[in-house]
Amino acid sequence: MVRFKPLGFVLLTALPLSLVANASATEAPTFKAGFAERDVSPEVGMEQPGGYGKAYHQAFHDPCKVRAAVFDDGKTRVAIVGIDALFIRGATVAAARKAIKARCGIEPGSVLVSASHTHSGGPIGYFLPGELEDGDALVRTLVKEKTVIADPKYLAKVEGAIADAVCEADAAKVEARGGVAYGVEDKVAFNRRFTMKNGLTFTHPGQGNPDIVAPAGPTDPQVGVLGAWDAKGAFLGCIVNFACHATTGPGGISADYIHYIEKTVRGLMGEKAVVVFLPGMAGDVTQVDNRNPHQIKQFGEVSSRFVGGRVGAEAVKVLLALEQGTGPLAPLVAQTKHLAIPRRVPSPERLGHARELVAKDPKTVDPTEWTFAKELVVLDARIKREPVVDVEVQAVQVGPAVFLACPAEYFCQFGLDLKAGSKFPFTFPVSMANDSIGYVPTEEALGPGGGGYETRLTSYSNLTPKGGRTIADALIGLATGLKPGPVPAPPALPAFKGVPWAYGSVAPELD
Ligand SMILES: [Zn+2]
Repeated sequence: MVRFKPLGFVLLTALPLSLVANASATEAPTFKAGFAERDVSPEVGMEQPGGYGKAYHQAFHDPCKVRAAVFDDGKTRVAIVGIDALFIRGATVAAARKAIKARCGIEPGSVLVSASHTHSGGPIGYFLPGELEDGDALVRTLVKEKTVIADPKYLAKVEGAIADAVCEADAAKVEARGGVAYGVEDKVAFNRRFTMKNGLTFTHPGQGNPDIVAPAGPTDPQVGVLGAWDAKGAFLGCIVNFACHATTGPGGISADYIHYIEKTVRGLMGEKAVVVFLPGMAGDVTQVDNRNPHQIKQFGEVSSRFVGGRVGAEAVKVLLALEQGTGPLAPLVAQTKHLAIPRRVPSPERLGHARELVAKDPKTVDPTEWTFAKELVVLDARIKREPVVDVEVQAVQVGPAVFLACPAEYFCQFGLDLKAGSKFPFTFPVSMANDSIGYVPTEEALGPGGGGYETRLTSYSNLTPKGGRTIADALIGLATGLKPGPVPAPPALPAFKGVPWAYGSVAPELD
């Protein structure tokens, strides 16, 4: 009989001894954890952001939530927040951070807020009330009537809910023990970009397309999990980090597959557990497998349950493996840095053509061409106000784990680069965090042989090609300046002094 080693144990034993907590260390550091959540479901009839045009919610499937974890090492508090939303703008995060500072004193830079990128969430953007309203009449009309915009009432609800959840989690903090590990789920997420026979890269070329040569980028199958238990061993909650677009669309208002991660984790770990989901770098990764040879459902309820159920089950496996090796997760550190990254500028010829096209009735021209012409016109207005984007990058350390966050729909390769470049035993790449700056592809994707949906120049996605590398370098720089805390482990076994089990310490009895 082969004895199967649990995953967490395998990972812990693979770490340098210096990183493993010494059970005989003199004084254990303080570690407190608290979790809370709030409902931020939009109403049926509200705008459903998700594409470059308008859509409206017609049904309800499951609640969209804000889920918050607050950790405290006695010196520093950090708040890690996930929200079921397509994205979150910097102004919304700034308002929530300000309210949090006023109400429970956590420093604004120590609050990380990341949007799950559910395409079934509320009207949180893209454009905010008043934004681009000083533009010309054409731009104002295009933004208001043809582009995804935020609902001021919904924004106020989200800002309040983030502050409520963080302050409630802070007030609920108890003496805790934590653990961190990676699981692996490699059957639910696929790179959606492919090198084609024509030498270019296409996004979603179509299932079974014979012109597909190979995927143009990687996936990241690691499921990052940080769990927390109270002093008596009751499970409090966890953070789950996984890279896959939340585009399964189970039908109606929904957290998308994150709903099924939560359902799966709560099924075993308890209904009160809070499951904070942080999306990894999934700008080019979705649940759709363009190379699957079978007729299978890649959207809807079945797909949503498949992705969330499997990622959730993997998170449960990791938590079970961690449960007996928990300890204080310290130190806690949060650092932010601001980068100035220029936008790509459309040529005057392209812009002129776009202006001519948007003047026409969208019904009389190619709707895709019209939509992206509209995007160029709106981008031009944006560039006039803000030619250079202020990009906040953030590192939040929780003991042996570091969360490296940026506001991009960042390509998966960058997430792998962050993991490779960070000396932390556990690195959680977090996208869509603290603001929204659109797709940020690799330089390769924006170079010869590149292309595809994410490289289109729009009011949403428009950083210059080196932007992605600049963000990665800055995040690795932040991680490099931090010293990983010890990885909790079960107490070391004392030297063997006993006797073998008397029933079992015998030679075979053949007669
Ligand atoms: Zn996306």
